[in-house]
Amino acid sequence: MSDAPRPVNEIGSYHAHVYYDPAASRAKAEQLRAWMGERFSVTLGRWHDVKVGPHDQAMYQVAFAPELFSTLVPWLMLNHGGLSILIHPNTTNPRRDHLIDPLWIGRPLPVHGDKLPEETETELAPPPNTNPSVRP
Ligand code: ZN
Repeated sequence: MSDAPRPVNEIGSYHAHVYYDPAASRAKAEQLRAWMGERFSVTLGRWHDVKVGPHDQAMYQVAFAPELFSTLVPWLMLNHGGLSILIHPNTTNPRRDHLIDPLWIGRPLPVHGDKLPEETETELAPPPNTNPSVRP
């Protein structure tokens, strides 16, 4: 007999990690970031022009509440401009969230799961730092 399915309320929030090449596609990443900020109540994270944590390329993180998934993720599908984007849930297990349960927009990249814990507090979406004025 299999385990019961996991309920979606395990997911406290999501991250979108937008990867870019500092030499070749930073401008594209900047445009996408500006467009997102104009359209979505999200938390735009710092630029990481060098690899950080489990990530294999330069990137910035976008944190968002579960309610935004159904508009932000399709919008990113249409507008990623060839950039690779990792969308992962935030539950109590970051390693599983990043390695087993995420989805990719664009070309998937390596993720170094050995740098992630298997147990943590569920991360809720932080207060948004954008002030959207355009309908997505
Ligand atoms: Zn993340």
